[in-house]
Amino acid sequence: MTWLNETMRRIEADYNRSADTHLIHHHVPGCDGIDLYFKDESTHPSGSLKHRLARSLFLYGVCNGVINEGTTIIESSSGSTAISEAYFARFLGLPFIAVVPKNTAKAKLDQIEFFGGKCHLVDPSDIYSDAKRLALELDGYYMDQFTNAERATDWRSNNNIADSIFAQMSAEKYPVPTWVVVSAGTGGTSATIGRYKRYYSRQFGATQLCVADPDNSVFYEYYHKGDESLTSPKGSRIEGIGRPRVEPSFIRTVVDHMEHVPDAASLAAIHFLEKEMGRKCGASTGTNFYATLKLMCEMKSRGEKGSVVTMICDPGERYNETYYNSDWLVAQGFDLQPHLEHIEQAYRTGQWGKG
Ligand SMILES: *Cc1c(COP(=O)(O)O)cnc(C)c1O
Repeated sequence: MTWLNETMRRIEADYNRSADTHLIHHHVPGCDGIDLYFKDESTHPSGSLKHRLARSLFLYGVCNGVINEGTTIIESSSGSTAISEAYFARFLGLPFIAVVPKNTAKAKLDQIEFFGGKCHLVDPSDIYSDAKRLALELDGYYMDQFTNAERATDWRSNNNIADSIFAQMSAEKYPVPTWVVVSAGTGGTSATIGRYKRYYSRQFGATQLCVADPDNSVFYEYYHKGDESLTSPKGSRIEGIGRPRVEPSFIRTVVDHMEHVPDAASLAAIHFLEKEMGRKCGASTGTNFYATLKLMCEMKSRGEKGSVVTMICDPGERYNETYYNSDWLVAQGFDLQPHLEHIEQAYRTGQWGKG
């Protein structure tokens, strides 16, 4: 009982010390009368929107009675989830092991270790089975973000991301956004926003939820066809989003619309945003922004006014060696120039100009 009380106190204390993330207004010159906002999730203590997920997953495990004093926490993630979970595990005094593909960049392993986690390197195809096996062997707990993300979050409120966005919009000129645009990794964020706006449909029912999906992800096709057995032979190159299999946490029935965004367009978008906002963002923010700009241009062409909200998911400094490195871009075969020109003209004129 004392361990439980102390654990709940520590999680609450961390929350009390943290401020909510900003909602940033950004003027798009070509789209007067359509207000764009970025929910900036990069400013959480552990650096991404996965901070909210990690908090929810720990609360879920503790309240289910499966995370206890000394329980080793195991997760299959090499990205922002492992970093955020390592952050929580450390201040709860729990050992944390990330099961990661052995080709993971050292910089990312360093970040997980910086927050006190350990990395267990395995073949990419084995990360889920090895995480489960390790949890059995160590009598630990497998967090399983791709299954539990949608169910661990209190989607009705508890200051979840939807609650926060709609509250922060309340004094704006158009407080009920026409679109909220996100992307999907676990699908947890889209599930929370989609359920929330349906639950509060009398206030927010006019808001539509768009999910932007990168190359090599099955979510877009799954959304349209409903086939749970879809797989992709290649993994996504946009870190944090796009999955090679249909994840249980992705709830397609709460999504109103999906946009497919080519990877080169996502990357061009973050280089464009660096110029316009004076800051670097992770590539999934580019995926979000590209789809958002398209929807804004479509609103303009229909003569609509209103607001649109999207998200900064994590900071770009995590990707100085990749997305912001011109040698890496060339080696990967990316040509951003045509997309940069297209984004620029859409942004200046409000006309999307391609099919
Ligand atoms: C996880 C993640 C997302 C997607 O969020 P989900 O709630 O998991 O769908 C987007 N961007 C980044 C950088 C992420 O780590």
